[in-house]
Amino acid sequence: MVVLGIDIGGNQTRAGIVNEEGAILASRTIQTPTDLDTFLPSLQDAIRWLVESTALPAGVGVGCKGLIDPDTTMIQTLRGPLHFLQGLRLADIVGLPLEIPVFADNDARVALAGEVVWGAARGLENVLMLTLGNGVGGAALVNGRLLRGHAGVAGHMGHLTVNPHGAICSCGNRGCLETVFSARAIEADAWAAVHRGCDSVLTQLFREQPQLASCRTVFQAAREGDGLAIAIVSGAIYKLGAALAGLCHIFDPEIVILGGHVADAGTDLLVPLREEVWIRSRGLLGRDVPIVEQQVGDKSGIIGAASLVMAPRP
Ligand SMILES: [Zn+2]
Repeated sequence: MVVLGIDIGGNQTRAGIVNEEGAILASRTIQTPTDLDTFLPSLQDAIRWLVESTALPAGVGVGCKGLIDPDTTMIQTLRGPLHFLQGLRLADIVGLPLEIPVFADNDARVALAGEVVWGAARGLENVLMLTLGNGVGGAALVNGRLLRGHAGVAGHMGHLTVNPHGAICSCGNRGCLETVFSARAIEADAWAAVHRGCDSVLTQLFREQPQLASCRTVFQAAREGDGLAIAIVSGAIYKLGAALAGLCHIFDPEIVILGGHVADAGTDLLVPLREEVWIRSRGLLGRDVPIVEQQVGDKSGIIGAASLVMAPRP
């Protein structure tokens, strides 16, 4: 049996045929256009090519940003460059025979579904996933089910308020987790210090090579002992640890899985984060909740999307 996974992104859309072991047998990548009339034929051409060169899939899983109704696969809310998909049923746009079931969900739940079927959450019933990227996404497996909430909004852990008086967030709230821990928050902190002329390798680097002004560079400078970078990174991890300890109190997970490109920092992130969560949660939980990197590690998003066909559902 094979399944089809599709990841619809703002810049690129990837589709791939995935086998039962979670391996991609064939894939196609298309540039995501900005209008439906161009998008539909290019997506359906890619899918037709994949099916002809492998096999008809037993099911289709689609990952996409925005709020998606998993029962109907309709995209209820989607801002940004993919807005032309709002109001559409993803099941209607793949162009395969109607008897092939289509499942769809947002990026973070797709990432967790991939871990449940083929990764770090196999065999587990209660899992938290945080995707640490430009923003912070989240998803929760609760008693074996992907948590969706009343209107599908559940799991937006990046919008947990961690500072009521904090910076205004992209969602309109103040002081959300992703305003203090995310690639953009860490980059913004570094830029602010550079503008103030702080004594740091970042000041020279950001000014002379702005293309290197990234969260990854700040982590790298911290690893090499730069005082300013250490202060920024450790401050951000401290706040993430506080938020995550609170989430562990609420969800009582067996493990916490970290995905997203900020999690590529590896032990530089994991070691201090585990320490902070342990200090804050040992009193109530009485155990050390393992915090691990995602195992599926599929940057294409295809495998996670494909896993929706096999993932547990309400
Ligand atoms: Zn927010």
